[in-house]
Amino acid sequence: MTQKQVVPFQEGNASMKSLLGGKGANLAEMTRAGLPVPPGFTITTEACLAFFKVGNRISEDLLEQIAAALKQLEKQKGQTFGDANNPLLVSVRSGSVSSMPGMMDTILNLGLNDVTVQGLAALTNNEKFAYDCYRRLMQMFGNVVLGIEGYHFEQLLHRLKEKEGAQQDQDVTAEGWKGLIEDYKKCILAKTGLAFPQHVYEQLRLAVEAVFKSWNNQRAQIYRKINRIPDEQGTAVNIQSMVFGNMGSSCGTGVVFTRNPSTGENTFFGEYLINAQGEDVVAGIRTPLAIAALKSEMPLIYEQLFAASKQLEKHYKDMQDIEFTVENNKLYLLQTRNGKRNAQAALKIAVDLVHEGLLTKQEAVERIEVSHLDQLLHRGIDEEAVKDVLAKGLPASPGAAVGQLVFDADTAAEWSRAGKTVILARNETTPEDIHGVIASEGVLTSRGGMTSHAAVVARGMGKPCVCGCEEVRIVLDEKRMFAGSRVVEEGDWITLDGASGRVIIGAMPLHEARMTDELLVMLEWADDIRTLKVYANADNPEDAKIARQLGAQGIGLCRTEHMFFSPTRLPVVQRMILADNKEDRLQALSQLLPMQQSDFEGMFEEMDGLPVTIRLLDPPLHEFLPNLEDLQKRHTELTYNKGASDLEREEIAHLLRKVQALHEANPMLGQRGCRLGIVYPEIYDMQIEAIFCAASGCIDRGVRVLPEIMIPLVGHANELKILRELVDFVAEQVLGKDKLRDCPYKVGTMIEVPRAALTARQIVAYADFFSFGTNDLTQMTYGYSRDDAEGKFLTHYVDQKLLPHNPFQVLDTEGVGQLIDLAVNAGRLVKPSLKTGICGEHGGDKESIFFCHLTGLDYVSCSPYRIPLARIAAAQAFI
Ligand code: PEP
Ligand code: MG
Repeated sequence: MTQKQVVPFQEGNASMKSLLGGKGANLAEMTRAGLPVPPGFTITTEACLAFFKVGNRISEDLLEQIAAALKQLEKQKGQTFGDANNPLLVSVRSGSVSSMPGMMDTILNLGLNDVTVQGLAALTNNEKFAYDCYRRLMQMFGNVVLGIEGYHFEQLLHRLKEKEGAQQDQDVTAEGWKGLIEDYKKCILAKTGLAFPQHVYEQLRLAVEAVFKSWNNQRAQIYRKINRIPDEQGTAVNIQSMVFGNMGSSCGTGVVFTRNPSTGENTFFGEYLINAQGEDVVAGIRTPLAIAALKSEMPLIYEQLFAASKQLEKHYKDMQDIEFTVENNKLYLLQTRNGKRNAQAALKIAVDLVHEGLLTKQEAVERIEVSHLDQLLHRGIDEEAVKDVLAKGLPASPGAAVGQLVFDADTAAEWSRAGKTVILARNETTPEDIHGVIASEGVLTSRGGMTSHAAVVARGMGKPCVCGCEEVRIVLDEKRMFAGSRVVEEGDWITLDGASGRVIIGAMPLHEARMTDELLVMLEWADDIRTLKVYANADNPEDAKIARQLGAQGIGLCRTEHMFFSPTRLPVVQRMILADNKEDRLQALSQLLPMQQSDFEGMFEEMDGLPVTIRLLDPPLHEFLPNLEDLQKRHTELTYNKGASDLEREEIAHLLRKVQALHEANPMLGQRGCRLGIVYPEIYDMQIEAIFCAASGCIDRGVRVLPEIMIPLVGHANELKILRELVDFVAEQVLGKDKLRDCPYKVGTMIEVPRAALTARQIVAYADFFSFGTNDLTQMTYGYSRDDAEGKFLTHYVDQKLLPHNPFQVLDTEGVGQLIDLAVNAGRLVKPSLKTGICGEHGGDKESIFFCHLTGLDYVSCSPYRIPLARIAAAQAFI
């Protein structure tokens, strides 16, 4: 049996979207609802996929089905395709399953040729109109089907208008159009070697083929990639009988939105043009009128349009974007779809629809596109001002930043002190750059991925960051940045867009972040629905405060090493790491203790009554030490510098020896995490003491403290055993038995080494909680370096669709996810009360949050500014 690949509008409905595409399904649904839709039919997405499968060829069977549907359409319209006296004309439009506005192609007025154009002229008694339609067909056909660049036709049109002294297209005479048609024919012949097809079925076949193929045009491919639309969907093609808005002053065409797509206000919004055809409204050749003007110009039509719009909005329970045409005072609806809107409008519309009784709260929450919330929660760029995009990197931390370019942290700090706003651009950042990061509005790096130092630190601080921007090359000595043939100097103004990864030349105007009333309402609804808790990754009291304001239910990760990233503390940490003996190390540690204690006190106070997970030191040591190459250079300089003292030389030589001794070929797999704490227990000892001293002080002040002490990088149960004993011992020493009762602390481990997941059954004996460090777990499961992979092969892998996503952004549920699932189940089997969460960067990603909910984790922990997004995603996961 042959498969039905063509569906007339009257036979389809909205539930057939995957087969008919969004436009086709909605045209069918409107037809069923009795709305005035010009009749037509849809060629299915399956037909498109079959077309691709056989090497971009339309099968005989499909051609027969199209011909049969056309016969039926001819009957409905009382016209015949290709008829010399009463020709049926059709539009051919793409219609994908997921909305891809403007990405694919459309051809209007199909069915016109040298003969039928005369029929149309006689029938409408309007020669000028008929020939205008014909030249439009040739222009669209030439461009879309035959691939001739549009400007060739535009040039000829322009020349004609000049010749006739015509301001607008409507001013051109019928003779003018006839002449232009001859010019277009010559142009088509010259460019393709083929004549414009006079056979109308040939026109139709070529047009359908071209629309199928437009699924794979470059802009459609890019759009799909950005919006994560599967390539396998294919597009449907809608063939619809033409109605004409360009037949005179009782005709027109326009687009309306049932609510304002920029603000969400419940006001009828849109534009129209009298005496115009479809693309004129969007093409910007003539300035359209606001829809309110139609009320006086065509009052009856306005009323019908308004009523139909409200009917459609009610039917679809969402704001609609509707295309309409008026032909000789009769209204036709050509398309309806859920209207695109910005984030604030989306929230307002959803909240209003709940209040109007059209949606439930659950449906409203479900509808929020969480990735759009970034628009609201961070400063954004006024897009109209964007002219000159220099390069594009990874969108590592959202928000927009404007400043003068600097290439080193000291200059950043100095210029910032002098009142300048700066953007710090580095090949990559290290903790030694932290004062520069703090001083700057945003950070740009040419190397490193989404979990690189710059990305993690900037995200934690809520600063915009674009990283791994390989198109730019920074030459520090010259204080210049190169991108292709472009050069940007220190002090030049640039704008970073951390949400898209764009680096833009000049200072773009920005708009502020907005925590609007509607967002607060939506978050409350989401909180009522979700079961997954949302914690924050925060390393200092200020971030903890912001996190709590944004709805954090605890701190899921305080990276204590980040507490040392300040110009006053870093030298003490370096002294501690470089100490030659235990005594020197203890001396440095005693200096660090009060610093840590005051940080923890601040965190506990901000999070009064909520858990605070503190991770003991986990620095890959290289992140805290001076750069080996820099040191070698300095050492050589001093050796040959006669002015240098022996002491200076000895100091640098000593430092160099130490750094060389600590240097590791692979520091991410080296002396870090609990390995450091086991070899140098005095370090963790100091940290644990600081935690419980802080807890003690807070308890005295009536603060409810719930510390959760987390051991990083555990791979063997014995590691956790030793360190848990240390925590319990120090806790009792500091607090004493009585006070311990007021401090119900937990000890747990990060699961970030595959072996830890595999041996969860043994490890859980010493753990009150598991927190999945999915940055390292991804790194070690895949064997991809989290610092280098994105800039090297990973982007290529994702581009080639070898991997569905960058696994450092979206959790690899198949592999890494399996380890998580396994560890959670094994752990809970032994200890049902085991608390589980995730604190890698995936904690702020929608798809990963869905996985965490399904796996039954207790919480996700993400950077403070992603908390609203995570709250909504967690609710959506539940729904
Ligand atoms: C992790 O590995 O996922 C994690 C949270 O720790 P870090 O990023 O600090 O290594
Ligand atoms: Mg880690």
